[in-house]
Amino acid sequence: MKIAVVGTGYVGLVTGTCFAETGNYVSCIDIDAKKIESLRKGKITIYEPGLEVLFERNRKEGRLTFTTDLVEGIKDAEVIFLALPTPPGEDGSADLKYIIGVAENLGKVLDHYAVIVDKSTVPVGTAEKVSAKIAENAKVDYDVVSNPEFLREGVAVDDFMKPDRVVIGTKSDRAKAIMERLYAPLVRQGNPVIFMDERSAEMTKYAANSFLAMKITFMNEIANLCELAGADVDNVRKGIGTDSRIGKRFLFPGIGYGGSCFPKDVQALGKTAKEYGYDFKILKSVMFVNDRQKTKLIPQLKAHFGGDLKGKTIAIWGLAFKPHTDDIREAPALYNIKALKRAGAKVVVFDPEAVANVRKEIGKKVKYAASQYEAVQGADALMIMTEWPEFRTPDFDKLSSALKNKVIFDGRNLYELKDMAKLGYDYYSIGRDTIK
Ligand code: NAD
Repeated sequence: MKIAVVGTGYVGLVTGTCFAETGNYVSCIDIDAKKIESLRKGKITIYEPGLEVLFERNRKEGRLTFTTDLVEGIKDAEVIFLALPTPPGEDGSADLKYIIGVAENLGKVLDHYAVIVDKSTVPVGTAEKVSAKIAENAKVDYDVVSNPEFLREGVAVDDFMKPDRVVIGTKSDRAKAIMERLYAPLVRQGNPVIFMDERSAEMTKYAANSFLAMKITFMNEIANLCELAGADVDNVRKGIGTDSRIGKRFLFPGIGYGGSCFPKDVQALGKTAKEYGYDFKILKSVMFVNDRQKTKLIPQLKAHFGGDLKGKTIAIWGLAFKPHTDDIREAPALYNIKALKRAGAKVVVFDPEAVANVRKEIGKKVKYAASQYEAVQGADALMIMTEWPEFRTPDFDKLSSALKNKVIFDGRNLYELKDMAKLGYDYYSIGRDTIK
């Protein structure tokens, strides 16, 4: 099949590369000329495990091409994916300007039947809006389908190539047959392609993300209560996670969720509810609690140093919003850096992949260390913000001799309390006893 992907970011590049891997000819389109230039030269623009090998192979085979020209990109494409940003607008609703803008252009240039696929996360009713916008200028038949993406950054290739399920919203039999054919190689193990109407497909994505955000947030509240009540959230987590109705995943407490999806999607679903006159109370609590959770360790850090962080040097391990990605959008680490700077602390940071993005965002406000041990050299305390595997079993001898004080504020509960006590650390974590 010949397919086009408009928007070559995290979702677009993974979508394009993976569909090329299953034998399709894919043209990836973006307005960012620098990005396209880099991709054309074979330089991948995001860090995503396993993607580069597929990118390289398919680019060399001529199945994966890149352009800034919409007309060239969609030439003969049977399916045109829209993998465009849907950032929060001023009122928290998803801003559809990129999607609607491209829909308008597509209407003007489409010269053959194509299935236009909303891959972006978009509110209920967007497929109808996209269709209406294309119709203003279109001279040919087309269908607009909702096909929300459930990939997780960090394991995006696996998620895309072996999806738990594929959700496709369409009432068109013609579009359904094309989408079925396109996805067939990815669901050979028998995972379902679930067809439904467009509105239900759009709602499914927001329901999934909001549910997961709620699950994390619920566990964070339980953790906060554990601290007050003298319970250990690790035990509680194991105790409830083994109940098959609850499940083991998304039960790890921490300093809140971040990323490009959960925060904006929870907010956007709340806005959709409001538009329909529904007061979605749980979502409001989820947002409130998560905001509070992100900087939960800061008051404890201040108290540890007698209420004053002026002149203290705080090392931070982990900047990405989660491990195995360089994505720092809404990362809790950024909120903590801001809070530390406000309190007059000096901040030294290390992350295996996200430093370049942080540098772009906050420049010289912090010092960048070349390794996790360089970051802690002479630091008054260590904060852990992302659960990268290399932080899980550090060389504690090296760490102890580098730190000025043996104190760790762990936002991801990486270490066992008994181990930290044995090593002689002051150790603050989430939902567990503090070791002092
Ligand atoms: P992104 O910002 O990484 O990528 C979007 C790309 O679109 C950018 O490269 C941008 O230059 C390009 N673009 C903007 N306007 C354009 C135009 N007019 N023509 C062509 N290209 C244009 O965003 P993303 O993380 O890939 O997310 C895209 C959508 O997918 C969002 O709706 C998001 O909510 C959803 N989503 C994201 C993830 C994720 O993990 N990142 C997962 C599932 C769904």
